[in-house]
Amino acid sequence: MTDPFAQGLDPKRVLCLITGRWTPADYRAYQKTKHWQRVRDAALRRSGGECEACGRKTRLQVHHKKLKGAYKRLFREREKDVAVLCSRCHKRMD
Ligand SMILES: [Zn+2]
Ligand SMILES: [Zn+2]
Repeated sequence: MTDPFAQGLDPKRVLCLITGRWTPADYRAYQKTKHWQRVRDAALRRSGGECEACGRKTRLQVHHKKLKGAYKRLFREREKDVAVLCSRCHKRMD
């Protein structure tokens, strides 16, 4: 279990991220946490290092799906909350 307050972020920022009232700057800070690195690495392993939409193996990014409140589960993502996408497919999804 991740302790959101033990990720080296400003506690105010953590509250924004937990309550879903974050700004793009908060989200960028989130992406630098150890927690996100773990979620990211696990997603890349699961996908076999391929874009889950087109199979490309380059410029991969890990995307929070917007369906079913995935953005509301920052710090406690479920496996299916994230998808591995290449930058091209990612642009289409966001
Ligand atoms: Zn792709
Ligand atoms: Zn995305």
